Amino acid sequence: MQAPRYDVIVVGAGFAGLACAHALAHRGFRACVIDRKQDLGERVHTTGILVQEACDAPLLAGLPPALVRAVPHVRLYAPNLRSVRLGADGYRFLTTDTPALMRWLGERGEACGVELKRGCAFRNAVRTSTGWQVEGVGHARFLVGADGARSRVAQRLGLGRVNQFLHGVEYEFDGIALREPDALHCFVSKRFAPGYLGWVAQTPTGVQAGLARRYRPGSTQAPDMIGFLQHIAPMTGLTATRRPDSIRAGLIPCGGPVRPMRRDDAVLVGDAAGMVSPLTAGGIHSGLRHGAAIGHGLARHLSGEAAADASMAPPVPGFAFKRLLRWAFDHGQFDAPMDLLLTARPVRRIVEQLCFHQRGGRMPAPDGAD
Ligand SMILES: Cc1cc2nc3c(=O)[nH]c(=O)nc-3n(C[C@H](O)[C@H](O)[C@H](O)COP(=O)(O)OP(=O)(O)OC[C@H]3O[C@@H](n4cnc5c(N)ncnc54)[C@H](O)[C@@H]3O)c2cc1C
Repeated sequence: MQAPRYDVIVVGAGFAGLACAHALAHRGFRACVIDRKQDLGERVHTTGILVQEACDAPLLAGLPPALVRAVPHVRLYAPNLRSVRLGADGYRFLTTDTPALMRWLGERGEACGVELKRGCAFRNAVRTSTGWQVEGVGHARFLVGADGARSRVAQRLGLGRVNQFLHGVEYEFDGIALREPDALHCFVSKRFAPGYLGWVAQTPTGVQAGLARRYRPGSTQAPDMIGFLQHIAPMTGLTATRRPDSIRAGLIPCGGPVRPMRRDDAVLVGDAAGMVSPLTAGGIHSGLRHGAAIGHGLARHLSGEAAADASMAPPVPGFAFKRLLRWAFDHGQFDAPMDLLLTARPVRRIVEQLCFHQRGGRMPAPDGAD
């Protein structure tokens, strides 16, 4: 039997892979996405918080309102739990029912013409004179690795690998409500989250509480979720004794783009390409944008409108400033100065800029909110 022939095979039906395939299918090209998961909503590893501008991604057009919840504020806590409430006029973060969102994205891709093969793991691909033969899947002119932070495509094809990570763990509590559900609660604490943050958020289905910290290869030290939940209980109303209904965990790239990101008509996108903000550890919006940019570029090349080189190398952020801030946070994080400084007005302005830069005007804190 002749193996199926595609224009592009994408490995990984996450945000980046589906955005890439969607852009190709939209232009009428034959894009096949494979994912090792049988159900795209299973074993989700992300908190799934969207920045508002992520909703402009064409893949997210028609997103059902029931899958998201608007969270217009950030409440930032110093290690001693003093806090400030931040916001920007008209700006919202969106928490999500992430498993349902991932299923919906898969179905949306299929409705737009993407061929999605669930329960199909990438094992290997062999270079041919006209593209790539992907074991168990078929032949394609181009191969896209969208298979996350530990990309097997990058490993098999000798492409750049992500080598700096944060380790995130998150507990989910179904059907409960926070005291202050309209804020994303972010906790700075060297004790519980060295190198990053703890967070608590109200979602469409309950409450998520997570911790991320620097990841050291070989280290078995996991984030202390129980200690963290006890520490923040007076602020959130969450009791540390309640067992989580589910747990999510994973590695978050934080070292910037990998090199090389492409070779021989194969290219990495999203987490596999290191396309995550080293400062905020947010990778959904950048993954959607990077995936779509590569999809559009490949479509232009397949239509004869652009050379392969240009189509597979759209401008990508180097995250130089954010990497510098990450380095500074990694090497100079101390709780005592944070206690003093974090709630001070000038520092608060800087943090507000980092959270809401170019995302609407500054929103004065409501009376008595601080
Ligand atoms: C705990 C945690 C919380 C986070 N919270 C946020 C957040 O709130 N907001 C935000 O913007 N970012 C967040 N991030 C980062 C964000 O989740 C990622 O940047 C984003 O999911 C990257 O999307 P992606 O499509 O590149 O990769 P992924 O979402 O990792 O998708 C990769 C896909 O590839 C599939 N796959 C892997 N290997 C194979 C294989 N061999 N064969 C076939 N398929 C394979 C996987 O099953 C998966 O579906 C968080 C990350 C973690 C770990």
